[in-house]
Amino acid sequence: MLPPTQQPDVSGWRKWLGRALDLLYPPLCAVCRVDLSDGRSLCEACDADLPRLVEPFCETCGETFPGQIEGPFACPNCRHLKFAFEFARPATSRDERILDMIHRLKYSREIHLAKDLGRLAAESFADPRLAPALAGKWPLVPVPLHRKRFQHRHFNQAEEISRVLARHTGLPVLKALRRIRATGHQTALTRAQRLENLRGAFAITQLGLRQIEESTAGAILVDDVLTTGSTVDECAKILRRAGYQKIAVVTVMRG
Ligand SMILES: [Zn+2]
Ligand SMILES: [Zn+2]
Repeated sequence: MLPPTQQPDVSGWRKWLGRALDLLYPPLCAVCRVDLSDGRSLCEACDADLPRLVEPFCETCGETFPGQIEGPFACPNCRHLKFAFEFARPATSRDERILDMIHRLKYSREIHLAKDLGRLAAESFADPRLAPALAGKWPLVPVPLHRKRFQHRHFNQAEEISRVLARHTGLPVLKALRRIRATGHQTALTRAQRLENLRGAFAITQLGLRQIEESTAGAILVDDVLTTGSTVDECAKILRRAGYQKIAVVTVMRG
């Protein structure tokens, strides 16, 4: 480490970079397009209006349920399924504005949106079920992209969201998984087809194996959206097989 007088002037450089980025991405609210400052991508009003997950919701997948239910419940979808993860905790319920931000992050490379999407995802950690993960410093494991898709997109949205989550929670990011087989788009597939399509698609990394030697308590899988849960389920299976005792899932939105 350099003595303070020899430290490069990072703050000036950051400001310059910030201005350059403002030129590239004019700071407008991603939803209502109002002018913004401070490098945010959501104005306060739009941010407050996004539908945070409120009870009652399925304790396994976060599907919300209109009406009154006392205590934890399982939605009709999860009631008959056995997942390799303990529970998935999306920060918000389904919302077109959030989905649009996620699509713009993924397909239009609006990487600046990861900051607010990650901040939203961080709100999931208010769920008391995630307290052991925070206390035990469980690693954040992004759902990996296949190398080919990564080369095309140049970044992995789940990894970008994980990095922001790491800043908010103090948990480390761990690239414990890699995708060893391209799986194509799953949107049009049924649950059974998705599971078949995903079989053997992921593997544990050397980095993951090394970390598991330190602690097997648990890991948190991170993705942008939870839809059927097939992808995170397959990832959770691999992490469990590698030695992790508990897997939780955190996403920005329940799809
Ligand atoms: Zn707005
Ligand atoms: Zn459910």
